Amino acid sequence: MKINIIGGGPAGMYFAILMKQADPAHEITVYERNGPDDTFGWGVVFSGKTLRNLRAADEESHAEITRAFAAWDNVDVVHRQEKISIHGNSFSGIARLQLLKILQRRCERLGVQLLFRTEVPDLDSLKANCDLLVAADGVNSTARKQYSGQFLPTLDVRPNRYIWYGTNRLFHGLTLTFRENETGVFAAHSYKFNQTTSTFIIECDQETWDRAGFATMSDHETREYLEKVFAPDLDGRSLLSNNSKWINFLLVKNDSWFFENVAMIGDALHTAHFSIGSGTKLALEDAIALFESFSGTASVSAALRDFEKKRKPVIEGYQAAAFESMRWFENARDYMNLSPLEVAYALMTRSGRVSDDDLRRRDPEFIARYEKAVGGKQ
Ligand SMILES: Cc1cc2nc3c(=O)[nH]c(=O)nc-3n(C[C@H](O)[C@H](O)[C@H](O)COP(=O)(O)OP(=O)(O)OC[C@H]3O[C@@H](n4cnc5c(N)ncnc54)[C@H](O)[C@@H]3O)c2cc1C
Repeated sequence: MKINIIGGGPAGMYFAILMKQADPAHEITVYERNGPDDTFGWGVVFSGKTLRNLRAADEESHAEITRAFAAWDNVDVVHRQEKISIHGNSFSGIARLQLLKILQRRCERLGVQLLFRTEVPDLDSLKANCDLLVAADGVNSTARKQYSGQFLPTLDVRPNRYIWYGTNRLFHGLTLTFRENETGVFAAHSYKFNQTTSTFIIECDQETWDRAGFATMSDHETREYLEKVFAPDLDGRSLLSNNSKWINFLLVKNDSWFFENVAMIGDALHTAHFSIGSGTKLALEDAIALFESFSGTASVSAALRDFEKKRKPVIEGYQAAAFESMRWFENARDYMNLSPLEVAYALMTRSGRVSDDDLRRRDPEFIARYEKAVGGKQ
């Protein structure tokens, strides 16, 4: 089969790896506008379950990923100077660039053709020239725009602002920190992803953002301001920018996931708020799902139908949970009058995916402290 893939991010490369590994006769080309070392972002995070899926799909890249990553089992919630740790949550982090390098090497060894610095401005000729065209071209997908009449996307620009930094302060666990000042509430999502660096995402509502005056601040002033807000947490370390800018989260959904011989995967197809797990996990799991749909049939249309039928309900469930989580952070201001233990409990159960019983199993000590603080079992 001749397969063209637009986008050399995690989704596109992982799909190429799985297909080429299963059948070396496939002729696979990945078109990527950036160079092999250009990237944005810092660390990406995976749950224990995602890692098990990656091992089952491709042991070789799984082994390299797990050699490079930092693992932890605690979620820490910081509110009013107090840190509450909740254990029993298995996660790990890896630098996005390192992940991309592992996938690039794996593609090269298998004989996938990676064409870097190759922008695809128009998909029609690529589509005509292959059996299968996979658009893994990210949140601002060209494919989704060009074929919007077929994919029928819904794009929802969310009200909160967020900015993606790194820092050399190491957060040994997924750490959710709340800081208030005269302008409003700031939340930070942080976790270490190697021996020296943590991701540090800061989020606030529009009112806080306006009052703080970020609209007229330079990048440098923005960083200085936020370093002051999170001074007790950064422990004297600075925030590291990688051309970091304030953005609004874009919630992407598509009614239709494929047409003719074209399918989308990853961020191009759907997004889920970063507070519930990274887009990278969903991108890789999409690649696995699409690959599995091809393992039962040689027919492109049957495989794409199967992919949409099986994967769509999974993603819808995920997006529903991520929506609740996102709304929690959009309304963070309303929770700030709660005690640190109450905030921690509300956060752990915010998406509906973790129940009171799950928490009791994972960390009985935390639940006992919480119940004691709120005066007995709820
Ligand atoms: C500013 C920012 C920072 C982020 N940082 C992190 C982070 O630190 N951790 C994390 O877990 N997630 C992060 N994310 C989210 C994460 O990048 C995505 O959820 C994940 O990478 C999705 O994988 P993907 O393969 O679907 O898309 P992407 O990783 O976005 O890959 C799409 C690729 O397609 C290429 N491309 C797009 N259009 C074309 C075209 N027309 N022609 C050729 N190539 C094209 C792009 O250059 C890109 O390499 C970040 C997102 C943004 C916007």
